Amino acid sequence: MKIWKKFVAWLWTFRGGYAVRYVESDELPSNLARQTLTVAREDGELWVAGMICPCGCKAKLELMLLEEAKPRWDLRVDKKGRPTLSPSVWRNQGCKAHFWLRNGKIFWCRESAASA
Ligand SMILES: [Zn+2]
Repeated sequence: MKIWKKFVAWLWTFRGGYAVRYVESDELPSNLARQTLTVAREDGELWVAGMICPCGCKAKLELMLLEEAKPRWDLRVDKKGRPTLSPSVWRNQGCKAHFWLRNGKIFWCRESAASA
């Protein structure tokens, strides 16, 4: 099953990658679109980014962007609207997915299963 999931994730990378969608709110909508990094912002301040776990497990990932939050992520968006998150996203529960989102593309960290 694991290999299948990776294959599905790999297929997704050919679909143009992730785009950013902003919502004016301090929280994420309950339904997140696939292949989209949904970013909640209020008064120009970024609060939280959300995405569906790219491994295929359908978990909703919430990544805090607020300066004060811990842990938190940096979000950069390039001219084509492609998001880059740093540091990497590592789920410590469920599927234990560990990946980078760079320029709208998912890059898997291969050691995630072994070291989790
Ligand atoms: Zn997952």
